Amino acid sequence: MIKKRILITGGAGFVGSHLCERLLNEGNEVYCLDNFFTGQKRNILHLISNPYFELIRHDVTNPYLIEVDEIYNLACPASPIHYQYNAIKTVKTSIMGAINMLGLAKRVNAKILQASTSEVYGNPMVHPQPESYWGNVNPIGERSCYDEGKRAAETLFRDYQHQNNVHTKIVRIFNTYGPRMHPNDGRVVSNFIVQALQNQDITVYGKGEQTRSFQYVDDLLEGMIKTMATDRSFSGPVNIGNPDEFKIIELAEKVIAMTKSKSKIVFKPLPSDDPMMRKPDISLAKKTLDWKPKVELEEGLDKTIAFFKELIK
Ligand code: NAD
Ligand code: UDP
Repeated sequence: MIKKRILITGGAGFVGSHLCERLLNEGNEVYCLDNFFTGQKRNILHLISNPYFELIRHDVTNPYLIEVDEIYNLACPASPIHYQYNAIKTVKTSIMGAINMLGLAKRVNAKILQASTSEVYGNPMVHPQPESYWGNVNPIGERSCYDEGKRAAETLFRDYQHQNNVHTKIVRIFNTYGPRMHPNDGRVVSNFIVQALQNQDITVYGKGEQTRSFQYVDDLLEGMIKTMATDRSFSGPVNIGNPDEFKIIELAEKVIAMTKSKSKIVFKPLPSDDPMMRKPDISLAKKTLDWKPKVELEEGLDKTIAFFKELIK
């Protein structure tokens, strides 16, 4: 028997495709909605023949009606290169996408979870970042279309819950990596691995002293599913990320060592508004969801390197 009917917007993307696969494997009917801006059919090809999987080509900036029990709202380009490509469209996707999906949740009485981001903290003045921190975001910079779009989406989630009694959840996702990242999306883990496997220069921006905390995709899925399973008394926002913090230069060195690459590190200018540090405080997730990440960086990198080796051979 089918457990739940679940809509995943952005389901053909990196995180979304893993979520589709996992929720299908758990016996649910999964509707994957995507406009294929950064998502790819290749990511979900292996699911297409499953009769409980449906692919919907649609843009979340337009309303969509479907009877479902749960909605995971992931539709939004996530890498700086992609979200800056058409900044206005990124804002529209976050805000109109949130309005359309919240409207749907209201109409069909579905639970809805928003894939928010650590970018809502901007270049943080508090370290590590707890959910209570309001952030330090430039409203008119290179990253604003993404950061402010996601912040406004959080506001909408909160207001639909308070005003219309929609059952909402917000997860703030910290840097996540794993197989099916787009090889050209410019994010640091995919860039470094692809460069290392091809013995090309490893492009470290700035001095590489800035930090990030990298979470393997399986840990994120577990955190999202546990958040969705909570009752109405919990709506988040909740940080889902791995608190192990690394300098970008350390990541470059690790990737070179793990791939036994001949690549050299080269230094490029630091993009504007690039946050200098990022590390989640995950006390809330531990306490409320009984969740913490399990996959160490080297284990996750191993799997991701294997994926890219296969992809670019
Ligand atoms: P991704 O780019 O691989 O996936 C995004 C998906 O959304 C793609 O399939 C894309 O085609 C689709 N999409 C974009 N605009 C759309 C629109 N207007 N209508 C319908 N579909 C649309 O990125 P990802 O890393 O899988 O990220 C998924 C979600 O998680 C995003 O909302 C992102 O902001 C959030 N997130 C990701 C990370 C991370 O490190 N991966 C960190 C924080 C937040
Ligand atoms: N970065 C880098 N080289 C690259 C790509 C990214 O040094 O080829 C840096 C980037 O400047 C940032 C960090 O790595 O400080 C993480 O970048 P990413 O785009 O993956 O994520 P975000 O900045 O959104 O956290």
